Amino acid sequence: MHRRHFLEVLAALAATPCLRAEDAPKKQIVVAGGGIMGASIAYHLARRGARVTLLEKLRPGSGATGNSFAWLNATFSKQPRSYFDLNLLGIAGWHRLQRELNGALQIQWGGCLEWYPPGSDTDQLRAEVRNHHEWGYDTRLVGESEFRRLLPGVISGPMEAASFSAQEGALDPIHAVNVLVRAGKESGVRVLYPCEVTGLEVSAGHIRAVETTQGRFPADVFVLACGLDSAFLGRMAGLEIPLRSTPGVLAHTAPMPRLLERVALAPGAHMKQTPDGRVVTGIEFGDALSSDKSIERGHKMLREADRFLPGLQSASLERVTLGWRVLPKDEFPIVGFDDRCPNLYLAAMHSGVTLAPIIGRFAATEILDGASVALLQPYRLSRFS
Ligand SMILES: Cc1cc2nc3c(=O)[nH]c(=O)nc-3n(C[C@H](O)[C@H](O)[C@H](O)COP(=O)(O)OP(=O)(O)OC[C@H]3O[C@@H](n4cnc5c(N)ncnc54)[C@H](O)[C@@H]3O)c2cc1C
Repeated sequence: MHRRHFLEVLAALAATPCLRAEDAPKKQIVVAGGGIMGASIAYHLARRGARVTLLEKLRPGSGATGNSFAWLNATFSKQPRSYFDLNLLGIAGWHRLQRELNGALQIQWGGCLEWYPPGSDTDQLRAEVRNHHEWGYDTRLVGESEFRRLLPGVISGPMEAASFSAQEGALDPIHAVNVLVRAGKESGVRVLYPCEVTGLEVSAGHIRAVETTQGRFPADVFVLACGLDSAFLGRMAGLEIPLRSTPGVLAHTAPMPRLLERVALAPGAHMKQTPDGRVVTGIEFGDALSSDKSIERGHKMLREADRFLPGLQSASLERVTLGWRVLPKDEFPIVGFDDRCPNLYLAAMHSGVTLAPIIGRFAATEILDGASVALLQPYRLSRFS
């Protein structure tokens, strides 16, 4: 090997922030953020034998995760192809986790029906269904009789077109994050909450330690998975992380007899029923940008939904939640290491519930093996520079 090439390789290795698999148990990986992303990354790292500490400001699932609709999908908005593939791997990842965790995760796998009233742009829906079908997604247009078979308790109202995507599902995000945190603990993750990261000790461009309300934690690798707060913490390490947010309000009923076997996206009301019988509904149109989470708003949302699901007329409203989406500026994930702070691994994204299993697994590959996962290449922070 030429001397110059050899030195370049050496320099590259020195800059590589990864831990070799055999070193993993000796190194300290500190994960900040106990949402679905931090919980999944910590779990996947610990399964590979890494020494992991997970620090959460409040309690697991208290950020966007706990207020998420948590629909697992690679649906029509998931474009271009590489982003669709990532989401599809997310869905597959939840199946894997269900097996790995011996059934501890409860997921409603029934697919999703989406329908449109007369006058909608159904040409676009047809084109999207055709496109996703060609990408290998199990999706198709359905007529009225199949609609009634798939959603027996639902009245569609005037309907121009409907699609059924069979691979989709939904889960209770707080239950899921708690299962992942517990599984992480069983694999050796030290979980601390409430424990807020308040500062980063940085020297020569590397994070040396993490300062928190429970003391100082030396870190060989720091995983930043604090949702919207990642922008603030990233700045402490010299990184500008372009995040914005929009609010999402959901109404949750008390447990009810089974009304829905799958996710139902009606014109004006998105609905799902969790395994414990609670129906969750949100409105994605009209006043979607309002952050009003009053009981009155919750009742209004239930009335909107019971036009389609009459079984909801006897529902009692249990709570109304307001969540803030973690939205990178271009709405695609930001994940991976960045040369400007080579031992900080960032994971900030929308659709994070769908993506958590695959991001957790790929993050462990990149952190522990030094591999650069090709599917994550479009999603580096450096694309904004
Ligand atoms: C209304 C709504 C509907 C959604 N619907 C869907 C959907 O149907 N399907 C889907 O896939 N995705 C959906 N999403 C998106 C998804 O919920 C998020 O992408 C995902 O939850 C983000 O997870 P996270 O772990 O990155 O962030 P978060 O869940 O926000 O977790 C970050 C955690 O970091 C903690 N933290 C913050 N600062 C610190 C600190 N200084 N020290 C320690 N801890 C700290 C917070 O307390 C929080 O628990 C939805 C989101 C919303 C709001």
